[in-house]
Amino acid sequence: MSNPLVKLEGVNFYYNRGKPSEMHALKDINIEIERGGYVAFFGPSGCGKTTLTYLIGGIETENADEGHIIVNGRDLRGLSKKELAVYRQVGVGIIFQQFNLLPSLSVVDNVALPMAFLGVNPERRKEEAMKLLERFGMGQYADRFPAELSGGQQQRVSIARALANNPPIIIADEPLGNLDSENANKALEILKELNEKDGRTIIMVTHEAWSLRDAKTIFHLKDGEVTKKEDSQKLEEIKPITAHLVKESHPAISPEHLAAKALSSMLLRGFSGEEISRLELFLAKRLSGEIDTPTFIDFLDSPFKEGGVGLWKQRAQKIARTAEDIVEERKHIHDIYLELEKFPETPLYEEVAKIRAWLLEDYQGTLSDIQIVRFDEAVEDRFRNIISPDNFKKVLELPRSQYGVGLAPHTSRTASERLETILSAEK
Ligand code: ADP
Ligand code: MG
Repeated sequence: MSNPLVKLEGVNFYYNRGKPSEMHALKDINIEIERGGYVAFFGPSGCGKTTLTYLIGGIETENADEGHIIVNGRDLRGLSKKELAVYRQVGVGIIFQQFNLLPSLSVVDNVALPMAFLGVNPERRKEEAMKLLERFGMGQYADRFPAELSGGQQQRVSIARALANNPPIIIADEPLGNLDSENANKALEILKELNEKDGRTIIMVTHEAWSLRDAKTIFHLKDGEVTKKEDSQKLEEIKPITAHLVKESHPAISPEHLAAKALSSMLLRGFSGEEISRLELFLAKRLSGEIDTPTFIDFLDSPFKEGGVGLWKQRAQKIARTAEDIVEERKHIHDIYLELEKFPETPLYEEVAKIRAWLLEDYQGTLSDIQIVRFDEAVEDRFRNIISPDNFKKVLELPRSQYGVGLAPHTSRTASERLETILSAEK
């Protein structure tokens, strides 16, 4: 498997190491999990399933004194405590068997809590939490406390909370254990939807065979060992995030269109939908090289009635210059992706530094060394698609004391929007 999202290499894990009660809970674990996959850890109680998810979830990693736990190319055991804390907040969402909701907080506050860590303001947190609750049919229970809900309902709240920071990996530990069959089925449906529609990588832990129905890969565990790996159905070709930049995809969703979409709404914030979609159309043509710069400017400043966008000349020129920049940057990014496809582990320092300069072109201040390191890490994570566009922006905005870059909201937003125009990853 080239460039797996999660890779465990020779991992051993002991509880109470060196004490009489020593427990060798995981023995020489070697597994790989594909981006966008749906895997199950299957085995009897006590075989080490939960311990394994703790390691992937960045919990207890400091006790795994042998082997490597690599997520998206980075060894979790090489991360500082702070980096690990960030990973736990934005890298994975865990649905615990016992739900682990805080009894003293209302349902909506439970769901909003992980966002507080990222410094999202309280109003926005509540808004996002409500959206998640509504998605799972729990909107009307927002102000209740967990104890006032049934098991199935608590489960759905716990799923909403796991999604709060938009993590690419969802871990569900025995998610069906405390549910009746109707609610268990519902929970399985949700996991499947998160995998298929939202593109999350799902890791499901279970000791019940019937609940394996949607898993594409099953790792059988026994006494701390993986005894078998089973592909329950042939994994569909999972398109790497980069594929659309390398090969031409369906014209309706070409990378140029995606970039044009992101870019036009950024450039014409406040304009009408019609103007934005017209700009989008011309941008896509310019980005794909179908029209040249003078023609592009012509379109931009032709009157709206005549099929142009109707912009003032100055504004049209400014937009054209930005588009030229982006055409250049996209070529650059294309080369990087080609390189990454061949050599997934290639460090991106230099490329990322160039991109940083471009993203922060309009930024007046100077960054400290720490800010630069964090900024570049976020760009690289975005590149490798380990964080969402939203989380990228959050990391930039988060104060330095909370391991963010500490940029102003406006600067963070501009940088994030610019980055998306060149990545134009499919949503
Ligand atoms: P599963 O989730 O498959 O039931 P676990 O990962 O919870 O298995 O546990 C694996 C083994 O490690 C079991 O034998 C369990 O008793 C032991 N174990 C789990 N947690 C601890 C702990 N905190 N301290 C000591 N032993 C533990
Ligand atoms: Mg368990």
